[in-house]
Amino acid sequence: MKFHNQVLLAMVLGAGLGLLLDEQGTLAGLPLLGALTLVGTLFINALKMVVVPLVTSAIISGITNIGGGTHLGRLGGKTVAYYLLTTLIAVLVGLVLANLLTPGEVDGQPAGDQLGLSADTDDALAGMAGRGAGDFAGILLKALPPNIVAAAVNGQLLGLIVFALLFGIFLRAADSTGAARLRETIDGLYETMMALTLFVIRFAPLGVFALVGKTAATTGYEAIEPLAWFFVTVVAALFLHAAVIMPLLIRLVARRSPVRHARAMMPALLTAFSSASSSATLPMTLECVEKRAGVSNRSASFVLPLGATMNMDGTALYECVAVLFIAQAYGMDLSIAQQASVVVIALLTSIGVAGIPSASLVAITVILGTLGLPAEAIGLILATDRLLDMFRTAVNVWGDSVGAVLVARSEGEEQVLTADMDDAWRASTS
Ligand code: ASP
Repeated sequence: MKFHNQVLLAMVLGAGLGLLLDEQGTLAGLPLLGALTLVGTLFINALKMVVVPLVTSAIISGITNIGGGTHLGRLGGKTVAYYLLTTLIAVLVGLVLANLLTPGEVDGQPAGDQLGLSADTDDALAGMAGRGAGDFAGILLKALPPNIVAAAVNGQLLGLIVFALLFGIFLRAADSTGAARLRETIDGLYETMMALTLFVIRFAPLGVFALVGKTAATTGYEAIEPLAWFFVTVVAALFLHAAVIMPLLIRLVARRSPVRHARAMMPALLTAFSSASSSATLPMTLECVEKRAGVSNRSASFVLPLGATMNMDGTALYECVAVLFIAQAYGMDLSIAQQASVVVIALLTSIGVAGIPSASLVAITVILGTLGLPAEAIGLILATDRLLDMFRTAVNVWGDSVGAVLVARSEGEEQVLTADMDDAWRASTS
């Protein structure tokens, strides 16, 4: 069975098993929820374990192998332009659908009273500390951490990435035997980390099975029911962005098959979906983009790590829909100017949001604040947050991977998504 089908099957089986568990998380007396939680956590831990050395060595070796003086600036320019443009498109898709479907209204009336505020709002607000930079200054401060070791310890990838970029730039320019040796050593470190990552990824079917099983067992459908229309609006907007607009970019700009790219990315997308964390998925994304889609290390290692922390199409879209939904539910009519400010803040905060579960909630409270809505209004959307987090994280990772393909193609990489990379990849894992 192909690897991505194994992961897909594991997801379906995991969801099935999760739904069979009773309230105590047991099935026929067996404490399965505990086992699923343990296995899922082990898988996420293993992915997180490789992130720091993998990402730093990938970026440094990618940059030192870029070659030519102006290439780096060009690559950087294209990457950032792609991030901003596609995130803006995503927010606009969310804006249009939220206005068309008005999920916060029932029969033209604000739905606030019917929805009621969920009781655990305070806990949610308290738990938000440290989940992401709320404002622009916060993003800058995180990009230049005073201590890279502390940044790595705290999973602050953005600071680590900036340091790795700078390190790569200066190592690339250094002209001594010592520097040449260091470049070789870091190439070797990167190869080793990739091999180790591949090993971890082989456990993806098991990890995804456990993660999805746990979520299915602990997230009840009842909680979502009153929010069904909000749920549908977000998923429809994410779908439009990921399954219509992105494929058009792959087809028209990169001139490659979007279906083939989706197949190549499937393990990473399913991991993003089940883990709700782009940072934890990053090792998987790198592997799929390089080995299965055929993007060079030079492009992938530049576009993807930055993308995993800065380019969040799904998150930006979600922030926009969520804020509009809350405003509608409170009966607040947003002017064009206010909606425009929601677009801009959603775009900026999505850059600062960390690639971890529920990170968007912080950004949403920031936008609510600027509109004069109470932060507690976030309680309206808590029930659906976990499930929607899975969808938006998959879209975040998908957006990064499409960026890697576009940048690689614009750099003249012919091998991207041509030969059946999937089979080549499978051969290399067996
Ligand atoms: N969980 C998302 C991610 O890791 C961030 C968010 O939207 O909460 O990409």
